[in-house]
Amino acid sequence: MNQPQLESIANNILAEYQLNPVRVELCTTKRRLGVNYPTRRLIKISSYILGHPQVEDTIRHEVAHQIAYDKHGHGVGHDYRWKALARTLGASPTACASSSDLPTPPTRWNFTCESGCTFGYYRKPTAILSRGARCKKHHLQVRQTV
Ligand SMILES: [Zn+2]
Ligand SMILES: [Zn+2]
Repeated sequence: MNQPQLESIANNILAEYQLNPVRVELCTTKRRLGVNYPTRRLIKISSYILGHPQVEDTIRHEVAHQIAYDKHGHGVGHDYRWKALARTLGASPTACASSSDLPTPPTRWNFTCESGCTFGYYRKPTAILSRGARCKKHHLQVRQTV
């Protein structure tokens, strides 16, 4: 999935509702997978989930927010009106894309110890890569995994 594809998913849905199109931008936030700025007709999607199946759900979730705003104005949030829209659009009508119960995007730099500790980083952990590190639990040398 890429930005033009996401934008066309969003705007195809909005066209069906005879609403004005939105702009879809990518952002680099990790905790919030998607966000809608209804008055600016802007949706931002975290680029970290472009390769995830989750991204389809997220774009539909945010489009549902836009439609909810266009129809009902501010204050809809995730109430029954939004939920009905989300269901119609095929988004799971439950978690908000900013909530912590969505899967976190995978980290780029991942390490493991012999006894099975795993941890990862979004940014290149130069200290670990150059000097190595031991896990906190077993004090074992960790190695990089893919
Ligand atoms: Zn939401
Ligand atoms: Zn360990």
